Amino acid sequence: MKGKNIFDGVMHFLVHNSIMFTVVIMGLVHTALLGITWYSGITPLARFNTVSVIVYLLCTILCKFGRITPVYISILLEVSAYASVSVYYIGWDSGSYYFLFSIVPIIIYLGSFLYRGARRWMIIALSLTLDYAVFAILYMIFYAASPVIEVSHATNATLTIFSSFAMFFSVVFYNLIYIYSSEDEVTSLEHENEQLSVDANNDTLTSLLNRRGFLPLTEALMEDERSHFCIAFIDIDNFKQINDSYGHDCGDTVLKHISKTFKKEMYGCPICRWGGEEIVILMKDYDMTVARQKMEYIRSSIENSPVMFYNKRIRVTITVGLAEYEDSHHTPDDIIKIADERMYYGKQHGKNMIIYKDME
Ligand code: GH3
Ligand code: MG
Ligand code: MG
Repeated sequence: MKGKNIFDGVMHFLVHNSIMFTVVIMGLVHTALLGITWYSGITPLARFNTVSVIVYLLCTILCKFGRITPVYISILLEVSAYASVSVYYIGWDSGSYYFLFSIVPIIIYLGSFLYRGARRWMIIALSLTLDYAVFAILYMIFYAASPVIEVSHATNATLTIFSSFAMFFSVVFYNLIYIYSSEDEVTSLEHENEQLSVDANNDTLTSLLNRRGFLPLTEALMEDERSHFCIAFIDIDNFKQINDSYGHDCGDTVLKHISKTFKKEMYGCPICRWGGEEIVILMKDYDMTVARQKMEYIRSSIENSPVMFYNKRIRVTITVGLAEYEDSHHTPDDIIKIADERMYYGKQHGKNMIIYKDME
């Protein structure tokens, strides 16, 4: 939803409740007509309007249960019948035929909502033909005919203004509905696209970047000759043991906890879930001295703040390999491989440590 102002909010509501709104408005139109015809003493039309109100009340129930086809047919038949009966009783000057035009946008809108493919256009074309045929026939029969009931000029004027306004309103309303629903669709497609690209570049469990999201950022940095950075290759120690002792969910909780810690401590640096329990960080603008200090701080705070899992305190440590970017590194792999090898050396020599240079 755009939700920028009240108008947008109202339109959003109407777009999503357009059929019910149509039926309610049709019911209200006939309630008003019932009042006018009853007040003017046009009894047959007052009776007809009573039936029409009941029809639209039933239509609201059908709408609620998603039965739109009978609603579509009811609107078409009711309006054709009302226009015919009204023109028959009170004459052409009552302007009741305007109602036939007021349902043109409804026929197209509801028809395209209900049907698909060639069937859709056939049904819409048939309904429009029927609607217009009723108008043409009424015109031929009643244009010059005397009405059964003579009504005052004021009543005719009231009815004409009322029915022509219904036509005007319908044209404006359904055009707005078309514009808003297509804009709504574009907005939600854009949103879905954004979500898809986030999903494609991020890991769902930790919401860290995945390799696809991370590597281009490293490549871009390497293209800039002035840039300096370090790569940290992190692996959680004895992670399999955590899974085996406390279960896979606990392992997931630990992974999320460690990821959150890095996101907080390394804010602004791209962080990647490289594999299962391996994390790679692009330490932008860090030289080795500062990178070592920072990683040492994070390593020790992870060691000293156990992860809570259902009242259990899970002690976690990490081993980190650090490598500093040099001109001899041409691809992200060149430098990540060095950091990985150093991390591996740390694994072989006691874990829970940071290795920042080649040891052998
Ligand atoms: P080391 O200290 O040498 O790194 O030992 P380790 O147990 O951490 O490493 P190992 O490679 O033996 O085991 C890694 C385990 O991580 C195995 C795999 O089942 C688990 N793992 C990988 N991805 C996930 C995950 O998304 N969630 C959980 N809970 N476990 C995972
Ligand atoms: Mg591990
Ligand atoms: Mg591992």
